[in-house]
Amino acid sequence: MEKIFLGVSQCLLGEPVRYDGSHKRNSYLTDVLAQHVNFLPICPEMAIGLGVPRKPIRLVVSAGEERIRGVENLALDVTDALVQEAERVVQQMPEICGYVFTQKSPSCGVYSVKRYGESGSSIDTRGRGAFAKRFMELQPLIPVEEAGRLNDAGLRENFITRIFALHDWRQSVTIEPSAKKLIAFYSRYKYQVMAHHVPSYFLIGKFLANLAGRPIASICNEFIQLLMTALSYPASRKGNANTLMHLRGYLKLHISKLDKEELSNAIESYAQGLTPIIVPLTLLKHHLMTLDDPYLKQQTFWAPYPEALGLRNFVLAQ
Ligand code: SF4
Repeated sequence: MEKIFLGVSQCLLGEPVRYDGSHKRNSYLTDVLAQHVNFLPICPEMAIGLGVPRKPIRLVVSAGEERIRGVENLALDVTDALVQEAERVVQQMPEICGYVFTQKSPSCGVYSVKRYGESGSSIDTRGRGAFAKRFMELQPLIPVEEAGRLNDAGLRENFITRIFALHDWRQSVTIEPSAKKLIAFYSRYKYQVMAHHVPSYFLIGKFLANLAGRPIASICNEFIQLLMTALSYPASRKGNANTLMHLRGYLKLHISKLDKEELSNAIESYAQGLTPIIVPLTLLKHHLMTLDDPYLKQQTFWAPYPEALGLRNFVLAQ
């Protein structure tokens, strides 16, 4: 698989582009994820011509509208410039499969950006940075996350699962799309979707059973929305255990009673929160691979992203 392109707030890579010349280096991004993706660093404030150092800006609610203005110089309003910068990035970097933003920034923050009133007093933390907001409006399918939230093992795993799925989709289906390619693609994702969200599993199954007479472009559009929505639900412990049990069903006639017991105990232990998923998963995979069944072998559920990321070793809490 070719490397994935991820948009990233430039200060997260350790570059001194913040208003005061500092940075917000995130070691998970620079030391771990960077080995598996290509980062496209973007500092929207620098890109619109605000230099370093620069006077700080903030999100101000003015006449019911969110504007990004100077803290000291109220006449400075960079909202439109930040919006246009997001439009430029979307147009010039269509290869982006995901985006990691800096939290709390009036340009890059996705959740909980402080909003101020005209008088300068803070109103709440329900804002979103102007650049991030426009990017997300234009690219609703692209997974986005804030760097701070990637400290949560479950959120991190979910974000990375989605970017690899979107990249896989673009590589496998969108170049000369066909119903055959789409079905082949989804047949690899079935158990992963089951782990994330059972209602989506049924919905996608129903959708794919009724493709006749529809243009392939609209089928692909609808399908990828359904898939990305399904994967946006974190794969819970219950969902994973259910999927492991379903996959265990393939072994009914092929392994000994003792092996079945060992497998059931491993799944049960995971379901109770005593072990990480990697324990029953490895055991199940070991048995299933002896069946040499191409359908089972190709399931992305085994490895939704490079195993070297080791994410499943840490996802204990789900
Ligand atoms: S948060 Fe965004 S705008 Fe602010 S320094 Fe980082 S990249 Fe630049």
